[in-house]
Amino acid sequence: MHHSSYAPSSVSFHKTVLDTMVLLRGPSETCGLLIGHTAASHTHVSSIHVATNRARRTQRRFKIDATDLLAAAAAAQADASELVGVFHTHPEGSASPSPLDAAHAALWSPLLWVIQGRESELGVFVIEAAGERWRRVRVVSSVPP
Ligand SMILES: [Zn+2]
Repeated sequence: MHHSSYAPSSVSFHKTVLDTMVLLRGPSETCGLLIGHTAASHTHVSSIHVATNRARRTQRRFKIDATDLLAAAAAAQADASELVGVFHTHPEGSASPSPLDAAHAALWSPLLWVIQGRESELGVFVIEAAGERWRRVRVVSSVPP
């Protein structure tokens, strides 16, 4: 899945995606797959597929259900879109990657990591080609011209 040219510097979310993410707040980590388009270093997220968290201890980690991953990929393809990111929450933490996230970073490269913190704040990151290095992606309210 590695594309060396994939380097979005900004991201925007459809309102329904933002609303859904807020609803995913809870005592356990919740997760989902983000579908949209990337063009000219901007990613627009048009939909979210909520996924089952298969981790044994969901308070501190997430593991996206494989069937949900395949369903999201199929939905993206049917919609002429792409899988652009992975979403998860930190119910008691900040909207930045945890050490556990870093351990799984390579698995989801080059997708965007969208993390929702305890106050429903969002942090969006990509993993630099060197690996283990997170770069923050700016969240903007609409697709730039
Ligand atoms: Zn995390």
